[in-house]
Amino acid sequence: MKLQLNSPVKFLKGVGPKRAETLGRLGIRTVGDLLYHVPHRYLDATTIMPLARAVVGQEVTCVGRVVTTGVLPTRRGLRVFRAVLKDQSGLLECAWPGRPFLERQIKKGQLLLVTGPVRYYHGRQLIPREFVILAEDESEDNPGLVLPIYPATEGLTHRQIRALVHDHLAALLPLVVDPHPPAFRAAHGLMPLGRALELLHRPPQVADAEPARQRLAFDELFDQQLVQARARHLAKRARAGIRFTVRHDLTTRLKEGLPFELTGDQRQAIREITDDMTAPLKMHRLLMGDVGTGKTVVALFAILLAAENEYQAAIMAPTELLAEQHGVTLTRLLEPLGIHPELLLGRMTAAEKAAARERIAGGGPRIVVGTHALIQESVKFQRLGLAVIDEQHRFGVEQRAALVEKGDAPDVLLLTATPIPRSLALTLYGDLDVTQIRERPPGRGEVKTALRDDGARQKIYQFIRSECAAGRQAYVIYPVIDESERADLKAATTMAQTLATVFAELRVGLVHGRMKAEERDATMRAFRDNTVNILVATSVIEVGIDVANATVMLIEHAERFGLAQLHQLRGRVGRGSAQSHCILLSDVSDAWPRLQAFCVTTDGFKIAELDLQERGMGELAGARQSGGLALRYANFATDLPLLESARQAAAQMIAADPALERREHAAYRERIVARYERGFELFRVG
Ligand code: ADP
Ligand code: MG
Repeated sequence: MKLQLNSPVKFLKGVGPKRAETLGRLGIRTVGDLLYHVPHRYLDATTIMPLARAVVGQEVTCVGRVVTTGVLPTRRGLRVFRAVLKDQSGLLECAWPGRPFLERQIKKGQLLLVTGPVRYYHGRQLIPREFVILAEDESEDNPGLVLPIYPATEGLTHRQIRALVHDHLAALLPLVVDPHPPAFRAAHGLMPLGRALELLHRPPQVADAEPARQRLAFDELFDQQLVQARARHLAKRARAGIRFTVRHDLTTRLKEGLPFELTGDQRQAIREITDDMTAPLKMHRLLMGDVGTGKTVVALFAILLAAENEYQAAIMAPTELLAEQHGVTLTRLLEPLGIHPELLLGRMTAAEKAAARERIAGGGPRIVVGTHALIQESVKFQRLGLAVIDEQHRFGVEQRAALVEKGDAPDVLLLTATPIPRSLALTLYGDLDVTQIRERPPGRGEVKTALRDDGARQKIYQFIRSECAAGRQAYVIYPVIDESERADLKAATTMAQTLATVFAELRVGLVHGRMKAEERDATMRAFRDNTVNILVATSVIEVGIDVANATVMLIEHAERFGLAQLHQLRGRVGRGSAQSHCILLSDVSDAWPRLQAFCVTTDGFKIAELDLQERGMGELAGARQSGGLALRYANFATDLPLLESARQAAAQMIAADPALERREHAAYRERIVARYERGFELFRVG
């Protein structure tokens, strides 16, 4: 039978039933799978050092023929495997302390590649960090100088995989059919698929593998983006919404009465939101911006646009304190317009709540501010036209939906202070449109960030004391990774007690996640009202309050925080006009480079990118919503430009052929239906 990419891998010469089973463990079942099992890295032997020139103290890569081997015990009882290598320039001894078993692998006559440092031990000695057996005996040819290293498994070394690929690559490559027509490839700068696979398995230079990987990564992202673009397309079709009209009434009066000038980004955001709201489709927009970039005012314009169209608008916040804060802000800004927002909070008495609910149902209050209390069943709106959800990631999908369902297809605006790169947001949040605010309102200086070790502790305390003496306040944050971690929590509690003695003349409060919510809120309110001067908090608490008077943020064990988390914490200060300070304490010198990078970076989107590179996709909020397959070739952290171009290409294709029904798109549809769980449902024809 003729070999095809979907032929079982056991069809290949050299693959018996046992080998086929082992390959199966790597996900290699067909010969095509083998072709797509690409090296995860390469050893670059193009910069090989002649053995004689390997100098003590250097890190080198050498290739030589094994001339002798042996295992010698050291005085301390450690057994060391040694092999002497020879090339045209001379000899060099390699030593593997504690690995006597290598005697069974490394044999006289083999051609060996080694990389590692050269030390002095009765002469020059290379301690290989890695080695690769290039050829089993002297009769073999010299293989290529770039050595692909394949993901391997027990019972199958990367060398065996390399040999298998080597033997069959020439036969397999002609079977590859590129799904992209040449014009598409040219438009997106993609090399032919077969060429990419060839380069990945056999790059002449290590650098040649990267553009080849990008080709596979693009395909992977493109499929994923087709799925998303299709989902967006279907969602939009079902998204008839309210068509608001700009009446230049409340919105204009707000603009004229604002005590400040809007920033350019705020104006742009308001424009995008207005465009959405005046269009016949439902708005579904995410507004991203660092704390302090002024998202609330932007949301207020949307709210007033709904209000001047005789609709109600609701804004829901994740905590009582935040909701109260919004209540205060909106009341102040709307006072001149004669509008009074209605509040609905959990801590209101039953009678107060009932009265508020009645007013809301009657349609009196145009603007309602609240917490989860808003989504209780008993709450009815007369005419909800806009739902705003602050700190949207703090709510579950159902909770967000519950607010939206209080109206008849209201527009939806989500706010978040956790910025992520735009193309990534589009990927994570499926059918949302995204607006970024990067610019900060002027006049507020940047928070000064410093990195210190424990030696500076007394000086830092002195500094906090002087700030508090001047009437300012400070946060002290302690890492408690999980509130059930007793030791951490104890350390934080002890810290609070210690600080209470250090600052005997001041009031120190403590909040942590194991406290009752009322107790916690009481302490936070006391801090807000400056009856508590220093607030000690554990990291699981989101100190979601706006205390303009707080000027110091001290973060203990800073090395234990992610960069995005540090950035959120830093955003808690610098909210007033006074100079604010963020101080990172860390005694872990390994962590200093990343913490130093944090100190000099203030842009939340930059930090989000760094954070992403540090942690990968896994932990990113909402990562699981991305759906679909795990990525094999693409990397969200480093392939954002590729993601953006895949997204655009997919959007174009879906716009032109929403169900991928055209013959030239059949290959894409088949692939998606086969690979994606939702594929069939999304691309069912008819
Ligand atoms: P966040 O984006 O964190 O929700 P807020 O909306 O709470 O930020 O705004 C933070 C502070 O900045 C508020 O006190 C707000 O009144 C103020 N503010 C917002 N926009 C501007 C602006 N353009 N100029 C000056 N101050 C502004
Ligand atoms: Mg806010």
